[in-house]
Amino acid sequence: MCPSHPELELQLFCAPCGQVVCRECCLLAHRGHACDTAVRAADVYAHSMRDALERARPVAEDAVVNLDRLRHLEQRIELQCSQVRDEVDQFIDSYISALEEHRRSLQMQVQEARESKLRMVHGQQLELERHLEDTRNAVSFAENLLSESSDIELLSLVVPVLHRLERCCTAVGSGGGGANNLLEPRVSECLQFLRSETAGKLKDYSLFGIITTQTISHQYCTLNIESLMDVCQHQKAETMVVTRDADGRPLRHGGEKVVAEVWYKDTSHR
Ligand SMILES: [Zn+2]
Ligand SMILES: [Zn+2]
Repeated sequence: MCPSHPELELQLFCAPCGQVVCRECCLLAHRGHACDTAVRAADVYAHSMRDALERARPVAEDAVVNLDRLRHLEQRIELQCSQVRDEVDQFIDSYISALEEHRRSLQMQVQEARESKLRMVHGQQLELERHLEDTRNAVSFAENLLSESSDIELLSLVVPVLHRLERCCTAVGSGGGGANNLLEPRVSECLQFLRSETAGKLKDYSLFGIITTQTISHQYCTLNIESLMDVCQHQKAETMVVTRDADGRPLRHGGEKVVAEVWYKDTSHR
């Protein structure tokens, strides 16, 4: 029954308003609107609803399929992330272990250099201590001989005593200097860590930082001057400097800063 006209049945359908109405409503409130009988309108609308339903049903099925695909994608993403996370962990762990190995190797080199240097220092200390004792004995013997002996006693011992005193002086290279000078330290304290030098590869990881006992000694460095013979102003020229340490051995590492000044041959201008 119509809410506005309880005595009348709802038999009509106003299409523009989308409402079921009674005869009175059709003539009054819906005057001029295209009203049809409910039976006919229902028939027409049932058709379009079936069409719409046919179109909507596959959408729902597609949505189900796509939801499933999304769930699979989610699982694959999780799996992929977890695999990559594991790869990162493995890489970093392995890198860390290569670095730790590098650290052990460097510390070992420092230890070896320390032992070798200290061994040489202790050796030289011992040698020098023996020499000190020898010299003290020779000196005091000679002093006694000079102050307390008769001429005959002095003369009978003078040759070996002089030899002995002479040997004391030559051992420390007095006058001549040289590599066997007992008084000069034969080992340098030079030991450096060069952090930017490449240290090769370990398990495919590039490592940096080397230990060196070499220190550059400019008087042993050589410049290839042949390539500079024909050099002209404002022209690029290349040459090679060989860096060496105090023992004349070529440096095994790079990274030394080499500064050279070039003068004109015939004038004092630079
Ligand atoms: Zn009505
Ligand atoms: Zn209407």
